[in-house]
Amino acid sequence: METTQLPKPHLVVIPSPITSHVIATVDIGCLLAAHGAPVTIITTPASAELVQDRVQRAGQGSSAGITVTAIPFPGAEAGLPDGCERLDHVPSVALLQKFFDATKLFGEPVARHCRLMAPRRPNCIVAGMCNTWAHTMARELGAPCFIFYGHGAFSSLCFEYLHTHRPQEAVASLDERFDVPVLPPFEVKFSRRQLPVFFQQSTNIKDDILRGIREFDMAVDGIVVNSFEELERYSAARLAVATGKAVLAVGPVWLCGAPSLLDSDSRAGTGSDEARRCVAWLDAKKARSVLYVSFGSNGRMPPAQLMQLGLALVSCPWPVLWVIKGADTLPDDVNEWLQHNTDGDGHSGPRQCLVVRGWAPQVPILEHPAVGGFLTHCGWGSTLESVAAGVPMATWPFFAEQFMNEKLIVDVLGIGVSVGVTKPTENLLNGVKGEAKAEVGTEQVKRALNKLMDGGAEGEDRRSKARELKAKAKAALENGGSSYMNLEKLIQFAT
Ligand code: UDP
Repeated sequence: METTQLPKPHLVVIPSPITSHVIATVDIGCLLAAHGAPVTIITTPASAELVQDRVQRAGQGSSAGITVTAIPFPGAEAGLPDGCERLDHVPSVALLQKFFDATKLFGEPVARHCRLMAPRRPNCIVAGMCNTWAHTMARELGAPCFIFYGHGAFSSLCFEYLHTHRPQEAVASLDERFDVPVLPPFEVKFSRRQLPVFFQQSTNIKDDILRGIREFDMAVDGIVVNSFEELERYSAARLAVATGKAVLAVGPVWLCGAPSLLDSDSRAGTGSDEARRCVAWLDAKKARSVLYVSFGSNGRMPPAQLMQLGLALVSCPWPVLWVIKGADTLPDDVNEWLQHNTDGDGHSGPRQCLVVRGWAPQVPILEHPAVGGFLTHCGWGSTLESVAAGVPMATWPFFAEQFMNEKLIVDVLGIGVSVGVTKPTENLLNGVKGEAKAEVGTEQVKRALNKLMDGGAEGEDRRSKARELKAKAKAALENGGSSYMNLEKLIQFAT
């Protein structure tokens, strides 16, 4: 007897306008399409190339079920300069509110488009946390709505605890540490200063924006997490209990189509030359001998701090691949120092510190056998990429939920060494004023890096835990693995 299969539901995926979130959300779309569901990714013109690039890497052309739609971003209406369509395009704090206003306005054209979508209206919306209007739109369409935060389940669990129990409001100072007992027997403590904007007293974002995001996350039907269940000591299951919502860990999502190191990278601006330079340099190094240093898509240190770090990097005994963002805004003396002490910008001397100014092909770098350690700002994307490559980390959190990710990496998973940063780095969102002084000195950095790259028993233990997690990350997305099954659940949810 013939059985007729119901058509798979149509999922509409709408990333938050933040580079790393766009990357991860598009990868979720690619995974859903690989599971046979038609997917529409809604973005804005300035992000369309990044989205298309990602879709192509995953080998999912529109013929394979993904449609990419770019809807104009109402930036001009909100008073933003041309092309300012992602958080990392916002040139100054003064324009931040306008950016969130524009993000709110973006809901209207998206809803108009979704109402008229042919041949099929959306059966499920997966929206980045900044798209707070997505829930109302989903209700109107009669579709369930899932939120995608961009960070992991452990940090989401911490957020939920902080929203519900508010221990941060009972402390006497910004530096007093308090318990966030979400994952016994691990001791989880933070200071208020280390928390994301939601929990700060003064930030550059108005209360109504933060309230809107919280209301959105309380209203949704479920939460999609870029993680895998085995990684965070089952924090996803605990989060489901704490929120009463479906929590689906579907990652690590970029494993939907790992790019080759020699692919040209449209975000790099330098095309494949930069990638070739990195690979040629890495190829000449011994296995696990290289320290990779990078602080995310936009992480910048004050010049004084960058110098302390630089002095540690050029004096350490391992080859270092160091990615620097915003190098064009560094003072002349720092730039001169970089030119004389590192390899880069056409200098390829005998030094062992290769500087990449701008965008580096991070995933393939981490997967290169020469890389033995990663000094990271603990952004969730970088954390997961390092886990999936089996590379242990030295942790230098900057802001947002990165102090929580540090806790997970160092104490819960045992695959990292803390540099010992106690204060966040200045950031557009957190309202922290730029510290001219460096919090972390050269010797402190060297101590952490020595531990990380150490060949002894402690270092070997970290490496072996990292290797185990690498295998689990891969298995999660294979047929029958936890993330594979959660992607199927998400599709069923929409049916
Ligand atoms: N990334 C990259 N090259 C760079 C900097 C960043 O490929 O030079 C990618 C990285 O692989 C990750 C994302 O950008 O996927 C950064 O995300 P993460 O969550 O680590 O940090 P954020 O940028 O949000 O602070």
